[in-house]
Amino acid sequence: MAKRDYYEVLGVSKSADDKELKKAYRKIAMKYHPDKNPDNKEAEEKFKEAAEAYEVLSDADKKARYDRFGHAGMGQGGGFSGGSMNMDDIFSQFGDIFGDMGGSPFESFFGGSRGGGRRARGQKGSNLRIKVSLTLEDVDNGVTKKIKVKKNVSCDTCKGSGAKDSSSVKTCGTCGGGGYVRQVKNTFLGQMQTTAACPTCNGSGQQISAHCPKCKGDGTNLDNDTIEIEIPAGVEDGMQLSMRGKGNAGKKGGPNGDLLINIEVANHNHFSRDGQNIVYDLFLNFADAALGTSVEVPTLSGKVKIKVPPGTQAGKIFRLRGKGLPSVQAYGKGDQLINVNIWTPKELNKEEKQMMERLRDMPNFKPDPGTSEKGFFERMKDYFN
Ligand SMILES: [Zn+2]
Ligand SMILES: [Zn+2]
Repeated sequence: MAKRDYYEVLGVSKSADDKELKKAYRKIAMKYHPDKNPDNKEAEEKFKEAAEAYEVLSDADKKARYDRFGHAGMGQGGGFSGGSMNMDDIFSQFGDIFGDMGGSPFESFFGGSRGGGRRARGQKGSNLRIKVSLTLEDVDNGVTKKIKVKKNVSCDTCKGSGAKDSSSVKTCGTCGGGGYVRQVKNTFLGQMQTTAACPTCNGSGQQISAHCPKCKGDGTNLDNDTIEIEIPAGVEDGMQLSMRGKGNAGKKGGPNGDLLINIEVANHNHFSRDGQNIVYDLFLNFADAALGTSVEVPTLSGKVKIKVPPGTQAGKIFRLRGKGLPSVQAYGKGDQLINVNIWTPKELNKEEKQMMERLRDMPNFKPDPGTSEKGFFERMKDYFN
């Protein structure tokens, strides 16, 4: 059968923008959705035709090729295998297209139906949340942590089935083993036939007459597990990482939940963190600042000697390039910023006091802010560049 023109399929003009395309596609997808037209081959074909047209016209590259060469341009190597988009591909598009309509009705009738009978069996395991506390050194290098967790694991006695033995497992009478039942629901789009997990077997498709003695029919047991977690360098306090399938075991053949790892970064004795930069507060005594000196400062990778020139002012920031932290997303490292503070003695003995009193009136000891370190905001600009 000759293919219809994609613009004709969606009923849009060649100059239709993204919004119009989406709208047109939505309308057709709603009309011919398999949940609304069960066992209707023609509706299914129309549904697929529209999905294919939308896939091409919503992609700038494919659209350009189609505009130039027509259907012939959509063949091999085009990333689109001439109309054989399957239903799963189509449904996986829906998140994008219908997502911004923000309606739970869509979840209820698109979720799980997948043309019937292909929904996942059993019950997904719940997610497991843990906290992992890291040092800045861990953040700098990345780290592998072994964490002990208590979680539901699949029962090893019954292999997760929950049944005592194979003779105690029977096909569910309510759903005939399919695990789902069809229901007619009233939605704002009219009556829709939807599928839902079978209430008798909770979607497993099976009924069990004698339960496994270890898990009491649940299919999972609470147990200790040690999970190895590879934490990439550059993570930040408050970030959440996830490991798919490492959470609580699913029930009756359902998939495992995920492990969600909340990152905490502990305060450091020497450093505070500002994104990829780390900041170190250096205290110089007044004589060193005036005379110049060299001092050792800690970095995340050992000590470094820096030169303090004579006449260094409080508020001066020295920058050690590349001595900061890596980023999870980007290449390269931040800097270490050394923020100079001048230490003012809190107490003076008699001799010190006399010396200070002599210094107080010396000509070079009179503050001259015009020749001082840049003002606060100027320094902040340098700091963040
Ligand atoms: Zn059932
Ligand atoms: Zn068991």
